[in-house]
Amino acid sequence: MKKIAAVLLMVFIAVSLAACAPNREYMGFGFMGTFYSFKGVGGVEQKELEKKLLELENLVSVDGELKKINEAKAGEAVKVDAATYSLIKFAVDFNKNSSALDISLYPIVKLWGFDNTFNENSSLTPPDDQSITQTLTHVGLDLFEFDDENMTVTKKDDLAALDLGALGKGYAVSYLLEKCGFKEGILNLGGTIGAIGKEYKVGIEPPFGGESYFAVFTLKSGEVCSTSGNYQRNYVYEGTLYHHIFGDNGRPVENSLASVTVVCGSGAAADALSTACYVLGAEKSKELLDLYDASAVFVYEDKNVSSYKLDVNVTSKDYKLKVEE
Ligand code: ADP
Ligand code: MG
Repeated sequence: MKKIAAVLLMVFIAVSLAACAPNREYMGFGFMGTFYSFKGVGGVEQKELEKKLLELENLVSVDGELKKINEAKAGEAVKVDAATYSLIKFAVDFNKNSSALDISLYPIVKLWGFDNTFNENSSLTPPDDQSITQTLTHVGLDLFEFDDENMTVTKKDDLAALDLGALGKGYAVSYLLEKCGFKEGILNLGGTIGAIGKEYKVGIEPPFGGESYFAVFTLKSGEVCSTSGNYQRNYVYEGTLYHHIFGDNGRPVENSLASVTVVCGSGAAADALSTACYVLGAEKSKELLDLYDASAVFVYEDKNVSSYKLDVNVTSKDYKLKVEE
């Protein structure tokens, strides 16, 4: 009898604590090169969240832990933070499943001006073929050795370099939702969005401007969605659009896609997948999406939309939905 009373009391305390959890709504700018917002219940105050964002920025950005690797000489074993090391290894394993995600493309990202010096007003010129061919000699995960026991990375080429830009935001969203004690809510880090505690309706931004969203889907608790596309971080030179997602030929991927949105239970995987699926296109992405138990929406330049394993409601009459098998 005594034991039951204790259990009931614990349940009561747990319930009343949840009831006391504060409503929170905040947003800010300047972390990981983008904005963040949270709306929901419980968890940390804004200052604490910003502290964590700063720590995460150091773990995933080329100005933090990765700088040690990128500035090292060939043959130097560089020790990085355990979280950075495991995210690098996640990306290396992902690359074994699909070479479309290659975090060693950083010398190419830099050559085209899409590193952190990029801003909307930069007047950039695409590099010539010779510089692209030359820079590609410093790209490839085979130019790196990974020592799991000591968590070190050793380069075989002085100029080889890594960039976690394709999956850092997704990793950060999952990390924050797990570690910040939020009871329920929706966290947005530069368009990479995670839900906790209940499900939320999420709108997909039209790549070509106009309404604030053109389609809606449901993001369940524990899921993260990430979007990659050619409509942000780009420049036009002599009438051609150059954007920040690269193929293994060292050039911005050219296809008929404007954006890809991926939903997955892991933020790092959702983010890595949205970049890789943009490179691959819908047909070649299906197997990869299945492997990570993820779903996706592909938006084409001609406003056709195709969904794979995601229930999407297209709300704008300008867009046409096709459901992929
Ligand atoms: P965003 O960071 O805008 O959300 P992505 O998640 O798609 O967009 O990441 C794009 C970034 O990833 C680029 O800015 C670049 O730093 C890097 N990148 C570009 N192409 C690739 C690629 N094929 N594999 C891995 N990283 C890439
Ligand atoms: Mg990505």
